[in-house]
Amino acid sequence: MGIMRCQRGICNHILCDRHSTVYGYICDDCFDELVFTGTIDIGFFMGSPAPPSIRPGADYYEELFPILHSDEGVS
Ligand SMILES: [Zn+2]
Repeated sequence: MGIMRCQRGICNHILCDRHSTVYGYICDDCFDELVFTGTIDIGFFMGSPAPPSIRPGADYYEELFPILHSDEGVS
């Protein structure tokens, strides 16, 4: 499992579950924002800078409660 860095702007999230063959990886935060904006200009969105944080402290909490991927063989 490699690093799947979010391809949007200056977003520094590196674990992305979503991938587009056209636009690359996108993290959940950016995806949620994309859905919220409802834009059809995906290229412009992906080139726009990610906000500093739309979920303050998310990285800290996500480290405490990481998502358990079913394909990582939790034992
Ligand atoms: Zn992102």
